[in-house]
Amino acid sequence: MADAPDPRTLKKGRKTVNLLRVAQCQRGLVLCVAALVFIQLFNVFVGQSLGARYGMWAIFPGMLAYLAASITAIVFTTRLALAMGSHPALAALGAVLMLMPCANILLLLGVNGRATSLLKKHGIKIGLLGPPPTEYPKLYQNACPECGYDLSGNLTGVCPECGTEMAATG
Ligand SMILES: [Zn+2]
Repeated sequence: MADAPDPRTLKKGRKTVNLLRVAQCQRGLVLCVAALVFIQLFNVFVGQSLGARYGMWAIFPGMLAYLAASITAIVFTTRLALAMGSHPALAALGAVLMLMPCANILLLLGVNGRATSLLKKHGIKIGLLGPPPTEYPKLYQNACPECGYDLSGNLTGVCPECGTEMAATG
């Protein structure tokens, strides 16, 4: 039996927050924003001189890449909001707002900031590029919040892997 354990979930009123999905979506979003910055720099510093030399068609791939990364950022922001328990109607409204300049940056930063504090509160370290995948094991049910070791059936209240003491687990 090597079934993956259930992801840790939080109950917030009627909402259920899936911490693993929050971490994965946030990671995707941060990588996406990094790609956007990179593509934009490329377009400004390389694309424009290519365009000047070879004409309009030379800047087209860069613009297309930027558009694709923008759409991906909207998708990840919306999925992240949903993973944190936002109402689907509210998430859909947010996706529409993401099409507007300024509103999209504020919304993205807001959702990202909420995800960061939520994950940090649950012992997840956030790197420059969001939560690294090495932190994901900590997000499963019965996992040690420090090292991610599976503590199912552990009755000592101490993690055998890293020695962290914790409230009794199931
Ligand atoms: Zn541990």
